[in-house]
Amino acid sequence: MLGTMQDRPLALPHIFERAERFFPHKGIITADATGARSRRSYGEWAERTRRLATALDGLGISADGRVGTFCWNTAAHLELYFAAPCSGRVLHTLNIRLYPEQLTYIVNHAEDEVIFIERSLLGLIGPLLESFESVRHLVVIDDGAPTPLPEGYDFIDYEELIAGSEPATFTIEDENQAASMCYTSGTTGNPKGVIYTHRSTYLHTMAAMLADSVGTCERDVILPVVPMFHANAWGLAHAAVAAGADLVMPGPQMTPPALADMIVEERVTLAAGVPTIWMGVLPELEGRDTSALRVIPCGGSAVPKALSEAYREQIGLPILQAWGMTETSPVASVARLTSAMEDLSEEQQADLRAAQGMAVFGVELRIADQLTGESLPWDGETRGELQAAGPWVTGDYYNDDRAPDSFTEDGWLRTGDVAVITPEGFVRIVDRTKDVVKSGGEWISSVELENEIMAHPQVAEAAVIGVPHPKWSERPLACVVPVEGAELTKDDVLEFLDGRVAKWWLPDDVVFIDEVPKTSVGKFSKKDLRDRFGGHVLPTAE
Ligand code: ADP
Repeated sequence: MLGTMQDRPLALPHIFERAERFFPHKGIITADATGARSRRSYGEWAERTRRLATALDGLGISADGRVGTFCWNTAAHLELYFAAPCSGRVLHTLNIRLYPEQLTYIVNHAEDEVIFIERSLLGLIGPLLESFESVRHLVVIDDGAPTPLPEGYDFIDYEELIAGSEPATFTIEDENQAASMCYTSGTTGNPKGVIYTHRSTYLHTMAAMLADSVGTCERDVILPVVPMFHANAWGLAHAAVAAGADLVMPGPQMTPPALADMIVEERVTLAAGVPTIWMGVLPELEGRDTSALRVIPCGGSAVPKALSEAYREQIGLPILQAWGMTETSPVASVARLTSAMEDLSEEQQADLRAAQGMAVFGVELRIADQLTGESLPWDGETRGELQAAGPWVTGDYYNDDRAPDSFTEDGWLRTGDVAVITPEGFVRIVDRTKDVVKSGGEWISSVELENEIMAHPQVAEAAVIGVPHPKWSERPLACVVPVEGAELTKDDVLEFLDGRVAKWWLPDDVVFIDEVPKTSVGKFSKKDLRDRFGGHVLPTAE
């Protein structure tokens, strides 16, 4: 061998120590349940995190025990984000919006030994406490809410726990040990557990700091609206600490007016959330000073072109679309236009921004025939199942026998998304495999139809599902939410679509609804719509 580089483990203490050593005066602003905001410097945060790690020893949490959190995006949650993994344990963020039976399932499946709960969330989790089989301690974090403590349990006070412990030192020797875990939101069946290792988190953090991906840096003031309890707040919590960026944590203050106030008053430079959040926030920003904003990463579901363009027109900044999954840590592709694309027309550029973009450095993506597994060409037209591989893409689910179907023989993740890839390598998701409308032998993309309908100025939201049809097996039904006060008819919608989509894609019917039901993470819940309209009789079926 000619020589080797040092193989020091890629582990979370390095990320933690960057903020502690280099940026002790930068820090985290958190909004509490009363709406008040308070600041904690990284210096204070680091000291408290080290004490918290010792406290986990004091509670007798196993060396690799699972530490559950039931928290908003807050400074305390960020302490747990590092205290658990840096002391060898596994942080298990519980998605507060899962159905009760799913929460019970994941706490028991992960065998959480302790759960840290923010006080404003006690009402949600209280009734479930008796169903948790492995939990030995409950710690309550005061976030200003007056919620009473459920009777019959001994709650430990978070502040007392920290105050009563000495600071720990952190050493992780095996970079492949688990650092944290997150369960998918389980749109079908029970949620599946994904384990993130120290190494995968470290590398994903570096990827989030690349200029051509999300590009987080020291000068940023980052508002992660995307929750820390689902898919790692898209890596922003780790990346902010690594870079020394300031964080603005919204806590329970998740309404559009509260978020808009934070963006303006804290001079946020980077704010990340799902499309439904940005739909609500835009009107609240009207006429206000948003000059500090430089990037609005958005993903979790397709970003409608109309939404991105509305941001470009109102505040001069289009949305930066990113694609990923719980299984991909989650950042896997980002729709940052390349220099060559700058010569395209405004319209073409807007179209590209509405795509899911290019695989970020470190991740490999391909499309394949769902049945034969054959790899498909990148011609911008051929549709196939999107598959992913890379050092922060999972190769397995935690203790789950449903796992084999989710991976190819050569170990790539089958994402369940249907996509085309352009010759330049831009991915465009056309649907999820289970949401495409199978009309005759052909597929109609529900996402593309929705986007076209949502471009109608009188439409607030639209979702398309396939409903049974005697001749075509399935045909599209458009479920449309008109903007307040609009008088919209089925013919208005169909006329608008005429010429925008192929004739045979036109929905067979349009129903008007008050709201598109959302999943636990704010995505359109096609499952709920299918439950409600699956039996809808299409006029064309008679
Ligand atoms: P789940 O909702 O299954 O728990 P995730 O939150 O991990 O899962 O969601 C991953 C899925 O979300 C992707 O497979 C894809 O269908 C969808 N998704 C994420 N980002 C985008 C995006 N930018 N455009 C379209 N779909 C997206």
